[in-house]
Amino acid sequence: MKNIILTGDRPTGKLHIGHYVGSLRQRVLLQNSGAYDETYIMLADAQALTDNADNPHKVRDNILEVALDYLACGIDPQKSIIFIQSQLPQLYELSFHYMNLVTVARVQRNPTVKAEIAQKNFEQSVPVGFFTYPISQAADITAFDATTVPVGEDQKPMLEQTVEIVRKFNSVYGPTLVEPQILLASNAACLRLPGTDGKAKMSKSIGNCIYLCDSEKVVRNKVFNMYTDPGHLRASDPGKVEGNAVFTYLDAFATTEDFATFHSPYANLDEMKAHYRKGGLGDVPVKEFLNSVMQQLLAPIRERRQEYAKDLPYVIDVLKKGTEQARDKAAATLHRVRKAMCLDHFSENGLNSAAARIGG
Ligand code: ATP
Ligand code: MG
Repeated sequence: MKNIILTGDRPTGKLHIGHYVGSLRQRVLLQNSGAYDETYIMLADAQALTDNADNPHKVRDNILEVALDYLACGIDPQKSIIFIQSQLPQLYELSFHYMNLVTVARVQRNPTVKAEIAQKNFEQSVPVGFFTYPISQAADITAFDATTVPVGEDQKPMLEQTVEIVRKFNSVYGPTLVEPQILLASNAACLRLPGTDGKAKMSKSIGNCIYLCDSEKVVRNKVFNMYTDPGHLRASDPGKVEGNAVFTYLDAFATTEDFATFHSPYANLDEMKAHYRKGGLGDVPVKEFLNSVMQQLLAPIRERRQEYAKDLPYVIDVLKKGTEQARDKAAATLHRVRKAMCLDHFSENGLNSAAARIGG
């Protein structure tokens, strides 16, 4: 069996540092590892429309923005196929068939969907398309026979739902679909990076983000306005590291080498945390250090992004070619699915064989 990666993002905004540590950084490593036969990266525009139906221009513009973020972070179109979800009608058809294998009650139990419905204040007005997006994600994943799905922790319920659909499909219609595995970041702080407000997950739809393309000044301002420990009023007070977003970001981004590079008085993060907990370390030097770490990471990404942005026709060409390749793969899977479901009516063994049976 081939090793195949499928992952993606909703083009609802530019990508942020939560995407970077949650999935993007890992994707680039996997892409370059040589351990995978095929890698597909999807711009989930149809899914983005499930809660942005009245804003199609926003979704279209963000296809290019997210593609620029991919290229800037090192996604290489020679190694990874970048494609646009809506241009593969096969995915819509797979979703339609999978809907018969999932109950309404099962989707209602999905904790990520529940949290998003509350966060978007949908209450009684949840669009059906939004409600069923975990099923369309199962279509996206299985269409590519994906074995590995590198995503953030909020996607865990979607992968569980996909595995259930695969098992149900294979038990009803015979072995057809490949069961995928989630691949989460190994560092706990990266699983669900909080926003700069320290509350919810960093999310394009909430606006609590540091974007990969933010200018040096904007990054600095966002870091210095970040939520810390509200009980840590004076530098001399003992401070809390748990739930303190600045330290969560350091857990996610700072390496031991960074402490030497930026001439920190501490040898590593544990020493810095110990001083903060004991009291005597103010927020400003900690934020100053985090700012240095962030600027070092983001400067080359920002520069590469600016270069690619000068040649958008190239970016569009990458998307067009990737979409064509992805469509071929999804079509092959759909062919298998239709056959398994007795929907290949005009093939040799379709209606002709039914006619022979009925005709007796
Ligand atoms: P939206 O608010 O439109 O849902 P988003 O910021 O949640 O946008 P998505 O496009 O839904 O981004 O998610 C893309 C990928 O990034 C998924 O794999 C998701 O798990 C991961 N991801 C998103 N936010 C974070 C985060 N704060 N920390 C870690 N991973 C994240
Ligand atoms: Mg999301």
